[in-house]
Amino acid sequence: MALTQVAILIIVVAAVASWLNLESCQQTPGCARSVILWVLGISIPVVVLVAWLWGRWYANKTLVITNQLERDYNRQVGLVEFQRQRNQIVMQYLADGVLLLNKKGEIRLINRAASEIFDIPQAKAIGQPFSSVAWNHALIDLWQACRQQEEEQRATVELDRQNKFLEAIFKPIQPQEGVSYLVVLQDLTRIRRLESIRRDFISNVSHELLTPIASVRAVVETLEDGALDNREVALKFLGRAADEVDSMTQLVNELLTLTRIESGVTEFKFSPTAVSELILRPVERFGEQASRKEIELSVEVAPDLPMIPADCDQIWQVVRNFLHNAIKHTPRSGQVKISASKKKKEIIFAIEDTGVGIHPEDLPRIFERFYKADRSRNRGAVSGTGLGLAIAKHIVLAHNGRIWAESSLGKGSTFYFSLPINN
Ligand code: ADP
Repeated sequence: MALTQVAILIIVVAAVASWLNLESCQQTPGCARSVILWVLGISIPVVVLVAWLWGRWYANKTLVITNQLERDYNRQVGLVEFQRQRNQIVMQYLADGVLLLNKKGEIRLINRAASEIFDIPQAKAIGQPFSSVAWNHALIDLWQACRQQEEEQRATVELDRQNKFLEAIFKPIQPQEGVSYLVVLQDLTRIRRLESIRRDFISNVSHELLTPIASVRAVVETLEDGALDNREVALKFLGRAADEVDSMTQLVNELLTLTRIESGVTEFKFSPTAVSELILRPVERFGEQASRKEIELSVEVAPDLPMIPADCDQIWQVVRNFLHNAIKHTPRSGQVKISASKKKKEIIFAIEDTGVGIHPEDLPRIFERFYKADRSRNRGAVSGTGLGLAIAKHIVLAHNGRIWAESSLGKGSTFYFSLPINN
């Protein structure tokens, strides 16, 4: 039963009792007064007690509510702070440059990518006019157009100093907290580079296919023009046509191989393999080609090498590509050596030649798809698709190995790859 009800009950009981007393003591002088005092004597402490208890209960309840409100408030503040920090992290690590400008065009916020684009520390950029931080005219023009027309402006801008392409977007936004414009700078350099690689690829493949196609066409025309009547000459021309078809087939095969590896379709079948097994078979295959150019082809495999997990067919392809290049780029009477040795937890393979070497500018890029070093030298004299090293790289990486090259122009090159002893 609630406290108030108990108190009311006590008061009612006291009132009834007093009424009964009053009834019975109507004749007695002073009796009524003492009954009233008696009732008051009971009721007042009871009322006071109830009021006190109720007051305490109410205060407690208020305290509980206040605490709850405080907890909710703290939680909200924490949430806002968490979101603020999260937004800040996102902003900081965003690959695109982001700036917020006020009405006057002063920078209110600049993320790390934007500060790197403009080569200015974030703290120093805050408060400065955008036009003084962005030294590029095209960007400043775009910003002024956005401000004057109060409309979104976007354009591709080239930053000569950094050799970069940016998609710049200037956007007026609903003004809040002193911010009126959003600037986003997307780095298109990578995309542009991929586009240029793709363009290179199409032009390479077209060139590589057109050359043998033109040769085959010329052979057919020569045969039609009468060479067919001379069996010996005809056979010579047919042999040339077959060679051209072979080179087209190789190009198409290499393209297919690379596409399959890059898209993860190729399944690598690893099994414990002897290191010499990985080298000797491809070397045998190139023996004749090397002796035709009077190139000394030698092999040096360190003794007692452990078996390593490898996909034999794939590693043969790597060794074949390296040997093919080494013989191709080594002049008559040169040397090509292939060796294998153990270093810490890896087997290091090296294919060394005394060939033309690679220009230091080309060296970092030769493992890129379709990249051909020294195009002027290669044109005509030495054919190739620029795919062989890219294929080798993918195969070695799939084995958790490493691949690299050293070269000295005019003296020769050494191509290395490593395979882990325990995959
Ligand atoms: P390609 O089919 O053109 O040979 P690769 O990917 O095998 O394609 O090689 C890329 C480029 O690296 C070649 O165009 C060539 O210029 C250069 N290169 C590769 N190996 C050698 C080497 N042993 N000596 C000199 N240059 C080499």
